[in-house]
Amino acid sequence: MRILIKGAAVVRRPGEGVTPAADVVVEGARFSGVFPPGEAQGEFDKVIEAEGKLLVPGFVNAHTHLAMTLFRGLAEDLALKDWLEKKIWPAERKLTGEIVYWFSLLGLVEMIRTGTTAFADMYFFMEEVGRAVEEAGLRALLSYGVIAPTPERVEPELKAAEKFAREWNGAAGGRIRTALSPHAPYTCGPEVWREAVHLAKELKIPLHTHIAETKEEVESHRERHGKSPVQWLEELGAFAVSTIAAHCVWVSEKDIDILAAHNVSVAHCPSSNLKLASGIAPAWAMLQGGVNLAIGTDGAASNNTLDMVREMRLAAILAKAKAGDSRAMPAPEALKSATQRGATALGWAKDLGAIEEGYLADCVLFDLDAVHFTPGHDPLADLVYTASGADVEMVMVGGEILMEGRNLLTLDEEKILARCRELARKFR
Ligand SMILES: [Zn+2]
Repeated sequence: MRILIKGAAVVRRPGEGVTPAADVVVEGARFSGVFPPGEAQGEFDKVIEAEGKLLVPGFVNAHTHLAMTLFRGLAEDLALKDWLEKKIWPAERKLTGEIVYWFSLLGLVEMIRTGTTAFADMYFFMEEVGRAVEEAGLRALLSYGVIAPTPERVEPELKAAEKFAREWNGAAGGRIRTALSPHAPYTCGPEVWREAVHLAKELKIPLHTHIAETKEEVESHRERHGKSPVQWLEELGAFAVSTIAAHCVWVSEKDIDILAAHNVSVAHCPSSNLKLASGIAPAWAMLQGGVNLAIGTDGAASNNTLDMVREMRLAAILAKAKAGDSRAMPAPEALKSATQRGATALGWAKDLGAIEEGYLADCVLFDLDAVHFTPGHDPLADLVYTASGADVEMVMVGGEILMEGRNLLTLDEEKILARCRELARKFR
């Protein structure tokens, strides 16, 4: 299959500006060239007319729990403790594989509609999430979330995580990769972390976890262990393997140095952190300190959307307020965090995050013909500060078109929405 995306303005490498008009050629799963308008040669199986539109690398959601779309709107405006203990955990005990499958599909519909092409997901019933990802056509780093607060849970939880990681790594023609996910330092003891690191080394896969989400978590960790969660994990050897650390809201300068020194990727989740009143992560300080800062939506229970374009906007404007400097996190940096740095976090640094010859053809096309993009002085500023996922018109993953003209091509949206509405009734 040879596809020509014709005449779009193109963000070839996030962080390096916009090419005003270009012809982008896709051959099979990869981009085979970016040419001045009219200069792409040869026959094409398909031509996408894209004059006046903006083509960018696909968005990478570096931290989410897809099936939590079930809980969207179910537990609002509660204290974190009540939210978790009275609402989310009891509801999660009622989950089945079937429910996780359908609400993963729901999340995937939303991701495609809002321009996400790859994501990192940690949850339960991961085989069902994997099945949904296979059908949808996205790229994903999937892991079973290990929660082992008591010694007898350690072995069965690790077994479940290992089984999934072994069986699904490389599935869906390589679109699915796996990780190991001790849920957090406060839900998993040192033996879980040591075993997870050992396995991750053996399987050559990353870790994906939550670190320093709330102030209470960090304070109680310091009381018990005499050091921050980041320092504790470093000493355990956890960062010897590639790691995605969600949140990192309450990190010190020393913690930031450690994260940067070990190439830990942080999945910054500003909406979730604000909505659960966890705080504001020092995103710009982490980027300045050399941390690979990616962006995630977290689950839809605490966001309440999976829209990475909106999350990118919030990350950009919030970083300015946190840093007390309106020059912090400029638009190109925010876009880079939402795309290329996410690809690095997920382990696809060499293949994703740019629209250049040889890269995997994961990209999204924005329709700029709208009142909020007028007059169009600066397409990059429009993308970061003005756009939302609703402006995405076409989505491609590995050369496969998943949405065109806002019509989904891989998933039956009507059926998925109907089934999810029906399944959600027993949770009210
Ligand atoms: Zn999370």
